[in-house]
Amino acid sequence: MSQDQHGINQKPTPVYYQPPAEHENHYQQMVKWLAISLTSLFVLACLFIVFADRILINLPFSAEKKFVKPYEDATRYLYSDEHSAEREAIEAYLDQLTADLAANMDLPEDMQIEVHYLDSDAVNAFATLGGHVFICRGLLETLDDENSLAMVIGHEIAHVKNRDPIVGMARGLTIAMLYSYFTGDYSSLDVSGLGSELGLSYFSREQERKADELGIQALHAHYGHVAGYDSLFAALQMEQENNANKDSQSVNWFSSHPDLDERINSLSEQARTNNWQLRNEQTYPENIIEALNIINIKKQEIDLGIKKAI
Ligand SMILES: [Zn+2]
Repeated sequence: MSQDQHGINQKPTPVYYQPPAEHENHYQQMVKWLAISLTSLFVLACLFIVFADRILINLPFSAEKKFVKPYEDATRYLYSDEHSAEREAIEAYLDQLTADLAANMDLPEDMQIEVHYLDSDAVNAFATLGGHVFICRGLLETLDDENSLAMVIGHEIAHVKNRDPIVGMARGLTIAMLYSYFTGDYSSLDVSGLGSELGLSYFSREQERKADELGIQALHAHYGHVAGYDSLFAALQMEQENNANKDSQSVNWFSSHPDLDERINSLSEQARTNNWQLRNEQTYPENIIEALNIINIKKQEIDLGIKKAI
C-alpha cells in the first residue's frame, strides 16, 4: 500500500484489465477460423452426398456385410418359424432364378445375392445392404410370368452391384448429421432411424435408370430375348391405375420407382439399339402356381375363421 508525503496510507488506484490492442484482431481471427471450418464441413458433406456413389463403389463388399450382420441375424430370427412346403418351393424357385440371373451380371467375387420371399400382399420388391433382395407375394401374383419377375430380380441385383443401398444410406445419414449439427436436434440420428434406412431406400432417377439398364441386359443374357420388361411395366401401370382409383396408400414397387413412362421409353430404346427381340414369356413352373394357390386358399380359410370368430 502506498503512502503520501504526510505518511498517510492511500488506497491504490484500481487497475482494470485492459485487453491488449491486438485482442480485437484475435477475436476476428477466431470467428473467421470458425466460419471457414463450418463452411468447409458443410462443403465436404455436400461433396460427399454428390459423389457418394463414386466413393462407396470402392468399399469392399465384405465391409458392408460385416456392418449389416447384426441386422441380418435379427431378421433371420424374426422369420425362423415360418416354414411350409409352399414357402420352401417358392424360396427354392427364387434362389435358382436369382442365381441364374446373377451368373450373367459380372458381380464382384465377394458379392453374394440372397433372395428372400415375403408373405405380404404388397406389390413390391427391394434390395437392401449386404446383398439381400426381398420379393413380396403380392408382386409374384401381380406378375403372372417368369420373365417379368426376372426383370424385377435383375433390376434389384443391379442395385446391389451398383452399391445403391449403402450409397442411399450414407447420403441419408450425412443429411441427418448436417441437420443435427446445425439444429441441435439429434433425434434423426437415432439407431431405430438407421434401421428404417436399412429396410427401404429410395434411389435417385439415375440409380433407377442404371438398374434398369443392367436388369434388361441380365434378362437378355438369361433368356436370349427381352420379353418381360414390357409385360412388367404393363402390369405395373395397370396396378398403378387400379390403386389410383382405390386411393390406396400402400407401399409398392412403383411408389419407390417413379417415372414409369420415361423408364419404358428408355428400355425400349436400349432393346431397339441392341436389336433385342421380344418372344413369348414363360409362365411360372406348375409347382409355383400351385404353391401360390394353396397359400391363397389357406389365407382365405384364416380370414373366414377370423370372421366366424368375430
Ligand atoms: Zn429400383
